[in-house]
Amino acid sequence: MRVPLLDLKPQYQSLKKQLDEAIIRVAESQYFIMGPELSEMEKEFQQYLNVKHAWGVSSGTDALLLALMALDIKPGDEVIVPTYSFFATAGVVSRLFATPVFVENDPVTFNIDPKDFEKKITSKTKAVIPVHLFGQSAEMDEIMKIAIAHNLYVIEDAAQAIGTQYKDGRFVGTIGHIGCFSFFPSKNLGGYGDGGLIVTNDDKLSEIIRIKRVHGGEPKYYHKVIGGNFRLDAIQAAVLRVKLPHLQSWSEKRQQNAKRYNQLFIEAGLAEEPGKTKFDSKNKVLLPKAVYEKSGVKNYHIYNQYKIRVEKRDALREFMTKHEIGTEIYYPVPFHLQECFSDLGYKKGDFPISEFSANTSIALPIYPELSDEQLQYVVSVIRKFFDEN
Ligand SMILES: *Cc1c(COP(=O)(O)O)cnc(C)c1O
Repeated sequence: MRVPLLDLKPQYQSLKKQLDEAIIRVAESQYFIMGPELSEMEKEFQQYLNVKHAWGVSSGTDALLLALMALDIKPGDEVIVPTYSFFATAGVVSRLFATPVFVENDPVTFNIDPKDFEKKITSKTKAVIPVHLFGQSAEMDEIMKIAIAHNLYVIEDAAQAIGTQYKDGRFVGTIGHIGCFSFFPSKNLGGYGDGGLIVTNDDKLSEIIRIKRVHGGEPKYYHKVIGGNFRLDAIQAAVLRVKLPHLQSWSEKRQQNAKRYNQLFIEAGLAEEPGKTKFDSKNKVLLPKAVYEKSGVKNYHIYNQYKIRVEKRDALREFMTKHEIGTEIYYPVPFHLQECFSDLGYKKGDFPISEFSANTSIALPIYPELSDEQLQYVVSVIRKFFDEN
C-alpha cells in the first residue's frame, strides 16, 4: 500500500468545479494583483478569524518580515524566537540585521517555553515570535503576560495553525499584536502557489502594514517610509476563498486521524498514552498531545503535522520509505546549531529538549482524505520495524 506524506489531488477533485471557476474568473477579469478578489478574501478571513484587520501578503515568510518592518525592528534590536521551528521564524530577524535570541521549547507541545523566554529578555529585546508549531497553540496567556510586563511586541507565527484555537476559543494569530499565516500549498490551508496573511487588532499597526505592503508609498510614489513588494495575487485569493469554508471540516478530519493513530499505537503496544516525554519499554513511540483537549473548545490542535518521536528515527524513516510511506523531518537542525547562526555563539547542548526533538521526531501522513486502512498500514509498518530492530 502506498501512503504519501501528503496528496492534494483528492482535495482538488472534491472542489474542482469551484476552483476551476475561480481561476477562470480571475483570467476573465484580467485583474491579477490585489483588486476586488483580494479585498473580498481579506474580508472573509477577517470575519472567520474574528480580527479587526487582515491583509493578504506574498508568503508566510513575508508576513513575518512585514510584521517586523511594521514594528520598526532595527540593527541592534533583539527578537526572541524558539530555536526549534521552520527557518523563516529566525531568518526574517537576521534579514533586518537584528539579532535573533533563541529559546527552548516545551517537551510536550514543541512550543516556546515561557519561562526560558522570560530569562532571555534584555534591555535590547523588542519583540518575541511564539510559533504555534505543527498546529497547536503556544501558551499565549503566559507569553502575553511576560511580554506586556516588559513592553515587548508579540508576533505570532501561525503559519502552521490557521483555524487553531487557544484554550479560551480565540483563534491563534489574533492574540498577540500581529499574527502571520502561510498559504504554502502543503500547509493545512494552501493556495496554488505562495501566499500568506497578516492580521492585527491594532488600527495604527494595520495602517503601517497596509502602506509597507506596497513599498511604503502614501500616497503612491511619495515615501515617508520604506516597504516592499508583499502583495498577494488575485488567483491565490480566489482559490483561498473557495477553500476557507472547508477548513473546519478538514481540521476535524485531521484530528480524527490523530486520535486514530494514537489509539492504534497504544493497541500495538508501542505507547501507553499521548504526551509522554521519555522512552522506556512501554513507550517506544512518543505520541503528540493536544494539551487543551479538555477545555471544551471545538477546534484546538489542528494537526498541520502529526509528529511522533522514536529513538532510531533515521532507520525508521528508511524502513518506511521502503514500505512506500511518506515521512518528513521537521526539523533536523535547531536554529542554534545552524551554520548561518554560528556567530551568535551557541553550542550543542544549549537546548537539550529541542535537540532531542530534532533528533527523534518524524512526521507521519495526516491529511484529511487518508483512509483507515492507510492509517492502520502506517502503524503496522512501524510495529514491524520495532519487531525487527
Ligand atoms: C511555512 C512556515 C513559514 C513560512 O511560510 P511560507 O509561506 O512558506 O513563506 C513560517 N513559519 C513557519 C513555522 C512555517 O511553518
